[in-house]
Formats: sequence, structure tokens, C-alpha cells
Amino acid sequence: MARPNRFYDVIRIGPVQVGSHYDGRGRTKHTAVCTAPGCDFSADYHHRPAAELAARTHRCNA
Ligand SMILES: [Zn+2]
Repeated sequence: MARPNRFYDVIRIGPVQVGSHYDGRGRTKHTAVCTAPGCDFSADYHHRPAAELAARTHRCNA
């Protein structure tokens, strides 16, 4: 996947990384990405708490 280098405030919750970035149009987006092998979970959110909640509740594909 693409790995933009302008992520900031990157944290890790279990296997999931959450980072925020500007979308270039004056807004901030928050992305949750699972780093576990074989798991392709990745999602964008408009609000940081939503991204962190998704990370916290994520279950990897077995
Ligand atoms: Zn996963």
C-alpha cells in the first residue's frame, strides 16, 4: 500500500497503527492500518476517536 510520509501522531493499538494526515484540501483524515501479516484492514475516518475505536475493536482475519 502507499505509505505517505506526512502522517503524524502515529500510535499503535495492538497490530493496528493509527495516524493522522492532512488530505491537501484543508481537512485532516485519520487512518487505521493493520500491520499483521495477511491482514489487509485499512480505513480512513474523519475523526480521530473513530479511527482509534476501530483500531481497538479490530479483529484480524484468521
Ligand atoms: Zn488485522
